[in-house]
Amino acid sequence: MSASKSRVLHRSLRETPPRAIGGEGVWLIGGDGRRVLDASGGAAVSCLGHQHPRVIEAMSRQASQLAYAHTSFFSSEPAEALAEKLVGHEPGGLAYAYLVSGGSEAIEAGIKLARQFFIEIGQPQRRHFIARRQSYHGNTLGALAAGGNAWRREPYAPLLSQAFSHVTPAFAYHEKRDGESEADFVSRLAAELDAEFQRLGPENVAAFIAEPVVGATAGCVPAPEGYFRAVREICDRYGALVILDEVMCGMGRTGTRHAWEQEGIAPDIQAIAKGLGGGYQPIGAMLASGRIVDAIRDGSGAFQHGHTYLAHPLACAAALEVQRVIDDEQLLDRVKSLGAELERRLIERFGNHRHVGDIRGRGLFQAIELVADRATRTPFDPALKLHQRIKAIAFEGGLGCYPAGGTADGSSGDHVLLAPPYIATSDDIDMIVDRLGQAVDGALKSVGH
Ligand code: PMP
Repeated sequence: MSASKSRVLHRSLRETPPRAIGGEGVWLIGGDGRRVLDASGGAAVSCLGHQHPRVIEAMSRQASQLAYAHTSFFSSEPAEALAEKLVGHEPGGLAYAYLVSGGSEAIEAGIKLARQFFIEIGQPQRRHFIARRQSYHGNTLGALAAGGNAWRREPYAPLLSQAFSHVTPAFAYHEKRDGESEADFVSRLAAELDAEFQRLGPENVAAFIAEPVVGATAGCVPAPEGYFRAVREICDRYGALVILDEVMCGMGRTGTRHAWEQEGIAPDIQAIAKGLGGGYQPIGAMLASGRIVDAIRDGSGAFQHGHTYLAHPLACAAALEVQRVIDDEQLLDRVKSLGAELERRLIERFGNHRHVGDIRGRGLFQAIELVADRATRTPFDPALKLHQRIKAIAFEGGLGCYPAGGTADGSSGDHVLLAPPYIATSDDIDMIVDRLGQAVDGALKSVGH
C-alpha cells in the first residue's frame, strides 16, 4: 500500500492500493511486476480466472455490434439467451430472470418483487421479512437492512427499514450447544423461526431471506442437514416466500449450479451475481418463480422497479459466455474434485493447528476460522485485527485471500475465505495452502502466538 494521493475514493481513505495492470488465469499482475495468486477470486467472483480468451472474444463481438440499448425500448439477443440459459428449463420452478448490475441490486429487486406479489394477490399486510444474524445481503439500504452483520449496519442503523428482523444463524461451530445433536440444533432453530413468525403474526410475513452457504460475514458456513427443509416447511405453512441469496455461493461455486440443489429445496426468489459474470462485467440477476411473475402479470402487469442498465447487452454477452465455458468444460465436476482436494489439503495443514478451530465449506468455497482457544472456541480479541495481518502478509507473499474479522460479541472469530477460480490446478491448490500457512503463522507470531 502506498500513501500517494489518489482521486479515487478507495475503501481506505489513508492508503492507495497498488495498481493491477494485468491478469493471466489464476494470477493478477501488479504494476511493480508482482504476481499474486488470486485464491479468493477477488470475493468469489473470478470463476474462470483472468483474461479467458473465449469471454474476451464474446465481449468484443458484442461491443462491436451493440453495447447498450435501454430496456424500455428494446430487448437484446444476449439478454434473451442468458435468461434462457439461467431459467429456460425452470430449475426448481424459477422461470424468469431480472438482469441487473450486481448482488445488492438483485437483492433489492427480490425484496420489492416479494412485496409487490403480496399486494397483487390481495395480502398487502405482508410487509415483514425475517433474515438471520451474521448474514450479508449487500450494502444498499434495503439489502443492508436485510443483512444481519452488526458492524456494517451500525453507522446506518437510523436509516434502515424496521421491516426486517433477525434470527439465529445455522452456524453450528458457534451456535450449536455442547452435547446438542445436529438434529436437535436444527429443531431449535426451526422453533425459533416459528416463534418469530408468531411474534410478527404469520399473516404479516412476506419472506425469509438467507444465504444457503454464508459467505462474507462468517466464512463459508453451510447449514446442518435438514435446516433448509425445515425453513421451507415453515414458510409454506404460513404462506411466506423463501428468498435465497446465492450472490457469493451460487453459480457453481459449491459444486452444483445452485447451492440450494444440495439442500433438497428450491427458493421462490433467488439472487445471483459474482460468478454469473466472473468479473468480466458487473452483472447480477434476480430469478423468480413462474407463480410470482404470473400473478403480477395477471394483476397490474408490470414490476414496479427498474434501473438504467437492466439487461445490459455487453454484460449479458460476457455472462452468457462465462456460463457456456463452465458447461462446455464441465467445470462443475472440477469444482467438486478440486474442492475436495482443497479441503483435504487444508485439513492436513491446519487440522492440528492450535489456533485453527474450524475448517468448513463446500466445493471451491472453503474457510478456516482462527481461535485463541480451540477447546472453548474463543475468538481472538478483535482489536488485534488478526485477519488484516493475515491478508497483508499473504499479499506480500504473493497470495490474494479474503480474510474477515469476527464479531464484537465473540459469536464468530477471524476467518480466511478461499474461493479460487474453477480453472485452478492441483499445483495452484498446493501453493495456496502453503502460502496461507505461512501467512497465518506469520500473523500469529506478530501478535505473540
Ligand atoms: N449478497 C451476498 C451474499 C454477498 O456476498 C454480496 C457481496 N459480497 C452481496 C449480496 C452484494 O453484492 P454486490 O457487492 O455485488 O452488490
